[in-house]
Amino acid sequence: MTTKYDVAIIGGGIGGLMAAYEIKKNDPDMRVIILERGYEQENRHCPAGAGQPCVHCKVCSIAGGFAGAGAFSDGKFNLGTAYGGMIGDELGETVAMQYINEVDHVLEQFADDYPPLYKSSEALKLKCLQNNLRLLDMNVRHLGTDKNYKTMLRLIDHLKEQDVEMKARTECVDIDKTEDGYSLSLVQKDQPLTIDTKRIIIATGRSGADFVKKMCHKFGVHINANSVDIGVRVEMKDAIWREFSSVIYEPKILYRTKTFEDRTRMFCFNQGGLVSAENNNGIITANGHSFAEPEKKTDNCNFAILSSIHFEGDFDKPTEYAQNIARNMNFAGEGNIIVQRFGDLKRGRRTNAHRLGANSVIPTLKAFPGDLSIVLPYRALTNIIETIYALDKVAPGTANDDTLLYGCENKYYSIRPSHDGNFAIAKDMYLIGDGSGITRGLSQSGAMGLYVGDRITGQ
Ligand SMILES: Cc1cc2nc3c(=O)[nH]c(=O)nc-3n(C[C@H](O)[C@H](O)[C@H](O)COP(=O)(O)OP(=O)(O)OC[C@H]3O[C@@H](n4cnc5c(N)ncnc54)[C@H](O)[C@@H]3O)c2cc1C
Repeated sequence: MTTKYDVAIIGGGIGGLMAAYEIKKNDPDMRVIILERGYEQENRHCPAGAGQPCVHCKVCSIAGGFAGAGAFSDGKFNLGTAYGGMIGDELGETVAMQYINEVDHVLEQFADDYPPLYKSSEALKLKCLQNNLRLLDMNVRHLGTDKNYKTMLRLIDHLKEQDVEMKARTECVDIDKTEDGYSLSLVQKDQPLTIDTKRIIIATGRSGADFVKKMCHKFGVHINANSVDIGVRVEMKDAIWREFSSVIYEPKILYRTKTFEDRTRMFCFNQGGLVSAENNNGIITANGHSFAEPEKKTDNCNFAILSSIHFEGDFDKPTEYAQNIARNMNFAGEGNIIVQRFGDLKRGRRTNAHRLGANSVIPTLKAFPGDLSIVLPYRALTNIIETIYALDKVAPGTANDDTLLYGCENKYYSIRPSHDGNFAIAKDMYLIGDGSGITRGLSQSGAMGLYVGDRITGQ
């Protein structure tokens, strides 16, 4: 069966949802469909359960499904352009901020008790500066995992009320040009299906990187080189970072390492949080989140330390490079993430079950006790260790022997296809969100969705 849509959105994360929202707000008569290869939001369940190892589902319910990679996230909305993506560079600060703030206003409609903003702190900025660290300026709206989840459910309900068609477990596997638009080849619950549409918004997130690359090659879109981040998730007692988290909620800190003069960053901080596992096409990496409700808080906090790797010359496979590191980590971790005590890493020995059992920081994720240094590249590992010591100067205790490191946590943004200035990579084909290599977080991905929604409806 073939049906004609005005806009087909591939991917049901915040980018795709915000695009649909804006299109319907501006032009309620447009026929819009969202195709999502994962499950409906309410049917997304990780069979491993909290704290248990990953069981390798075909489509990871943590990374994909309606509400996207952000569904079970901490729901931290970074209302600025200093991090979380590069739409400030793409659109200019004023326009970028207009759309980032608009994401905040849209979400406010669907959340109960919208939480207040955490603002940046001059005193903490100075403390960091005095220790060669740069605390990034940003206002943050922290919804927390549960409130964020409910807000996204309500946004999706609203879109359904606006007659946006939502197709779960429907993967787009190919796109062909037709006379007046595009034909999409889909696999819906293992059955092939084709739909016709005038325009396409590709909003497939990081997990859709292979699909985007395939389509860029097919439609002759130039791909620009991008970097990858290799790193670890770090977990320790919550009290160690409370001076920061009680004031600014999420410290995001840059550091220039001593040995290599590379830039590292501490980010994605979760106060009272849990370390989580993420399955990206069979590769398990670490992440973290936290609940807003006090009774769901743990005694720990966690954050990522990432070391950026830039490739020079014609090397166009940075994602594959980083995936191979993560794959090796899973191989060495018997199919899982590896956890290591910082004290063991320093002493050049693996963490074993005995030492982990006696650790004062109790791990919130069941991972394989092992040795990160047998997998992580020397340069990245050196950068990570130096960053931990630098952070210890502003939050003493960060470099304690019992601090836990989970490996690895990689961020892939390698493909950054060229676009026309309005995120169209071909005629009537837009690429938005984390899959575009331009955004790296909820606010900016959502902002790109709203922006493209406006372009499509001529606003
Ligand atoms: C555990 C975790 C915690 C996070 N916490 C935060 C946070 O607190 N704050 C923050 O700003 N960011 C956070 N992030 C990052 C944030 O979730 C992403 O930046 C954001 O979700 C990107 O949105 P997106 O719509 O571009 O892509 P995604 O949310 O990844 O959505 C893309 C969707 O497309 C689907 N898809 C992919 N390929 C296809 C295909 N071929 N056909 C159909 N569907 C397809 C996927 O299943 C997925 O659901 C977190 C991420 C994780 C995993």
